[in-house]
Amino acid sequence: MDTTEQRIKIAVQKSGRLTDHSRDLLERCGLKLTQSKDQLFCYGENMPVDLLLVRDDDIPGLVSDDVCDLGIVGLNVVNEKRLALEQSGKDALFDQVFELDFGHCRLSVAAPEDVEYSGAKSLQGKRIATSYVATLTDYLQRNGIDAEIVYFSGAVEIAPKLGKADFICDLVSSGATLTANHLGEVETVLESEAVVIQTREPLSDSKQEWVNRILQRLDGVLQVRESKYIMLHAPRAALAEISALLPGAESPTVIPLDGSGDKVAVHAVCRETVFWETLENLKAAGASSLLVLPVEKMLA
Ligand code: ATP
Ligand code: ZN
Repeated sequence: MDTTEQRIKIAVQKSGRLTDHSRDLLERCGLKLTQSKDQLFCYGENMPVDLLLVRDDDIPGLVSDDVCDLGIVGLNVVNEKRLALEQSGKDALFDQVFELDFGHCRLSVAAPEDVEYSGAKSLQGKRIATSYVATLTDYLQRNGIDAEIVYFSGAVEIAPKLGKADFICDLVSSGATLTANHLGEVETVLESEAVVIQTREPLSDSKQEWVNRILQRLDGVLQVRESKYIMLHAPRAALAEISALLPGAESPTVIPLDGSGDKVAVHAVCRETVFWETLENLKAAGASSLLVLPVEKMLA
């Protein structure tokens, strides 16, 4: 069995919006996990990989301090930690190595509905409540705005109602929380999604090899999500038109059909969503016997 030092430690959120997706993705990379009794640790049974279950805010620090080799966390949290370290004259000792295409949200400035807003200059001299102090400080500096930042650790959206701030800067996905509090988005500070970060501390060759393998498998898992395998029959003369209609497909496989004159079978992996319209267009171009199958695994 591997010693603890040779096992890869990945920090993931213990309980929250990123938890299920993070574990699901790792499991789809082939990792089988057992959770420890104290619920702080998941042991990888079939790979030298363990998960540390922590608060998302702690993940960049754990990776920067080389307690964990990798972390799965929102770019918003990564960015805040990196800027907070930089603003206090330190370097963040981690790199963003992969985007995971879940946990999409944005860090936005929002204003009470009755406030007249005419661009970022409207923030000049105002009070803005946020828990993203470093990110907002950076945004205001880059835009040449002088405003007061009021730190709120949570429930930022009630700050204007409490008379504590004129604007807020907080995470938004659907905007429902803002609407419920009579606030509207006025500026986007950062577009965010879950990302993988890796420590800058060099890993042993065997660990780095496993990290590369995990990242390659993650890439495969993300690619197959939308991918479909299309099979159809077509007259050879319609091949060019049909190939052009296949969404996101590399060169299709063309197989002659026995005893059917000039007809061929076309097989292709489509990396974009295959809509009903696509199938109808293919049919109109001469295709028949159309079949669309899910793709389970892919290794480029
Ligand atoms: P923890 O207990 O781990 O500190 P938390 O309350 O800070 O949890 P969650 O609310 O679970 O964190 O959000 C985790 C991440 O999910 C956010 O940092 C962000 O990257 C992402 N996210 C996606 N949509 C939203 C949203 N609408 N509001 C907040 N976070 C979102
Ligand atoms: Zn948090």
